[in-house]
Amino acid sequence: MPRFGGPATFMRLPGETDPADLDVAVVGVPFDIGTSNRPGARFGPRGIRSESVMLRPYNMATKAAPFDSLRIDDTGDVATNPYNLADSIERITAHYNQLLTNEIIPVSIGGDHTIVLPILRAIAAKHGPVGVIHIDAHTDINDLMFGEKIAHGTPFRRAVEEGLLDPNRVAQIGVRGTGYAADDFDWSREQGFRVVQVEECWHKSLEPLMVEIVEKVSAGPVYISFDIDGLDPSFAPGTGTPEIAGLTVPQALEIIRACRGLEVVGADLVEVAPIYDVSGGTSLLAANLLYEMLCVLPGVGYR
Ligand code: MN
Ligand code: MN
Repeated sequence: MPRFGGPATFMRLPGETDPADLDVAVVGVPFDIGTSNRPGARFGPRGIRSESVMLRPYNMATKAAPFDSLRIDDTGDVATNPYNLADSIERITAHYNQLLTNEIIPVSIGGDHTIVLPILRAIAAKHGPVGVIHIDAHTDINDLMFGEKIAHGTPFRRAVEEGLLDPNRVAQIGVRGTGYAADDFDWSREQGFRVVQVEECWHKSLEPLMVEIVEKVSAGPVYISFDIDGLDPSFAPGTGTPEIAGLTVPQALEIIRACRGLEVVGADLVEVAPIYDVSGGTSLLAANLLYEMLCVLPGVGYR
């Protein structure tokens, strides 16, 4: 079958394996009713799967061969409720709790960033509090948005309050832009997070920074949460809340590739809204970043 043919599962995986027989599940979460401004991330899983058929199995830079060493499949989407945020959160939590009755690493395709809260609830129920490498233009630690506790700008504050994170093993990379208040990033730092504002990343390789970040997070299980708006909108315009002067694509690869050797227990790529990028380029980029995450999971072999 040519790569443009057949059902568009992630990377043309078979899409029919029982989760009990998997090491890694690629899961779509078509949900965007937690967005504060421009919606569209509900179409992220479909857009990213469609563009992912361009990808091939071997990583020519790192020699990773994830499909030779791990049993990986696309297990489909969570059945969210487009009329009810709270019910959707319950549905997502239940879906991941069920998946995690198996010894499985979920790699999720968002969806807006709200989805990381129910995913972390399930991850922490299995593994205990996790370290997090969070790439984003935003810290997502608001207390309330329009009076609501659960929204795409609040998940990491809720996760701290609920004890889902080990706050001294959390890094937020690429944050920038304009804030509602001048001290918007201080709450993260007060928790013990390492907050890397994007200016610290400009014009340079992130390999030295990642040595420090890996050292900070490595003493236990780690979750990777990658908001596509961490990248510059010239590379990733297909997102709801773009911010100028973001990370470059090579820097994104440096961040993910540095995670090799960590005890990664889950990962996501969120906030792709394909409707703002009709070229499909943002979805193709997201598919590649998800592939790079597969390449650093525990147990992956290298050729
Ligand atoms: Mn975010
Ligand atoms: Mn963001």
